[in-house]
Amino acid sequence: VAGAAPSASPERAILHVDMDAFFASVEALEHPELRNKPLIVGGDGARGVVASCSYEARFYGVRSAMPSSKAKRLCPHAVFVSGSYGLYETYSKRMHDIFKDFTPLIEGISLDEAFLDVTGAQRLFGSGEQIGQRIRERVRDELGLTVSVGVATTKHVAKLASEAAKPKASRQGPIPGPGVFVVTEADAVPFLHGLPVRALWGVGPAAAQRLESIGVQTVRQLANMAPSVIASVLGKASAQHLHDLAWNRDDRDVVVERAAKSIGHEQTYPRDLYDRAALHDQLVRLIDAVTVRMRADQVVGRTVQLKVRFATFRTITRSRSLPKPTANSSAILKIADDLLNAIDIAEGVRLLGVSMSNLEDAAFTEQLQFLDGRPVSTDLDDAIDLIRQRFGDGSVVPAPLVGSTSPGRFQRGERQWGPNAP
Ligand SMILES: [Mg+2]
Repeated sequence: VAGAAPSASPERAILHVDMDAFFASVEALEHPELRNKPLIVGGDGARGVVASCSYEARFYGVRSAMPSSKAKRLCPHAVFVSGSYGLYETYSKRMHDIFKDFTPLIEGISLDEAFLDVTGAQRLFGSGEQIGQRIRERVRDELGLTVSVGVATTKHVAKLASEAAKPKASRQGPIPGPGVFVVTEADAVPFLHGLPVRALWGVGPAAAQRLESIGVQTVRQLANMAPSVIASVLGKASAQHLHDLAWNRDDRDVVVERAAKSIGHEQTYPRDLYDRAALHDQLVRLIDAVTVRMRADQVVGRTVQLKVRFATFRTITRSRSLPKPTANSSAILKIADDLLNAIDIAEGVRLLGVSMSNLEDAAFTEQLQFLDGRPVSTDLDDAIDLIRQRFGDGSVVPAPLVGSTSPGRFQRGERQWGPNAP
């Protein structure tokens, strides 16, 4: 009996998955009173910027990255919220957990956007379109948020296709889009040629203006122009790249992100520290900041590194590895204290830093430890993270900082969209 004939390998399938109005949608989900309102996440001060906005705000012309002053002129009744980055990270992580059920080939572009290569997953889960639908349903059911999915044979077209899948703003609120938009290999060139040239990935306002100066307004016009002519306004490399894109020549792979090699924090002090008790307190703060990030990234680490810069600017590092990886503050503090106690601090300490390296995926390690019969608890740390998510970063601080006038905990991503109004 002859062996089964190998079936034809499926067409390359790249998904671009993009949350709809991500930060604003999360805020509306967490604060029902904000639903169906023109909502802007960003700084509302004079130099603030719009980080994200609801479709109700988009109807008035408000867009991401727009100065908040302009957004207020366009939509004076918009509600501004300053946003909670930690919360968005949590939702993003949950979205990535759904992706991982379909493929390990995930390239995160930002918190709310990722490329997935599902070419090999099609045998198991159906076509790229079906996988896109399933991801959309799961994000809706499990997170309460909507994503738009572009499906194509290249990253570039997948990104443009997700744009075509998006809802549209209207006076009556968002009008749902197709949700999943597929562009097959055969359809890719006609799809591209119907778009304005500024839709191309990497063509910003400046490049679009230069292209218009040589009469190029659409991708079709770009495709039919000799690269040497395009090069006269954009430079040779960009010209060739864009010309290739216009003919759907894009062999860029989905690049799987590698986990950070280390997570650390360091601080330079306004006055040199000579007191071991004070240095211990600083270690507590630094390790608190490091482990919050480790738990947010769901990693555990094996190696603790202490960095000390003296008043003389001489800098030393000391490290020690744990028998088992951890994200537990007390376990890390114990080692950092040991390392510090072995250092002569007579010169005075100008800077202190702690970092964790040899990082591993926490879930995987937990499984191993469970099998090992010796689970390592980080329950207290997890509870602290939850309280901080609810009540703000200052609600739980390490004991040495209670009532302290020194700067509080490290702020994570706060005020990144510009200062709020006074
Ligand atoms: Mg988005």
